[in-house]
Amino acid sequence: MTQENAEVEATEPAAAPEPAPVHDPKKPPEKVNVQALQVDEEVNSWCGKCKGFYLHRVKTLQPPKPPKAVCIPCKAVHQVRLVEPGKKKKAGTDRPNLPSWDVLTADAEPELAPKYMITGNFEYGDFIMHSKFGLGCIVEVLTEERIQVSFEAGVKLLIQNYSR
Ligand SMILES: [Zn+2]
Repeated sequence: MTQENAEVEATEPAAAPEPAPVHDPKKPPEKVNVQALQVDEEVNSWCGKCKGFYLHRVKTLQPPKPPKAVCIPCKAVHQVRLVEPGKKKKAGTDRPNLPSWDVLTADAEPELAPKYMITGNFEYGDFIMHSKFGLGCIVEVLTEERIQVSFEAGVKLLIQNYSR
């Protein structure tokens, strides 16, 4: 190493590397063009299991729908989703911010949705298949025993964790 180089190094002390941004799973990721994603590309996507935005690796392209990606933390495979489903709940019964059923279920996989049963235990964001109302998305867990579910026919109050 020459003297000159040594001086250069001395005058530029460890140019602080960009600090890794603290990952906030509640913060929606930057807008990306999901249609432009390629297999093995990484993207921040909502994970219904992790209940947050986490890094996903693109697995399958399925245009015109967003690609499917595997969640790095939990390994679940699902469609890339850049917005949190359900979103903000408001006090009271009216929920003007609740996305419509077709938006909520846009990336649902009806064939994978578990059957709704009053003895079941469901979580916010879960998809269920109801014998009468069809595909639904849990939009609010009110109590241990009560859930609000968005169906095509509207939001219904259902029972969960039922035991006699
Ligand atoms: Zn996950």
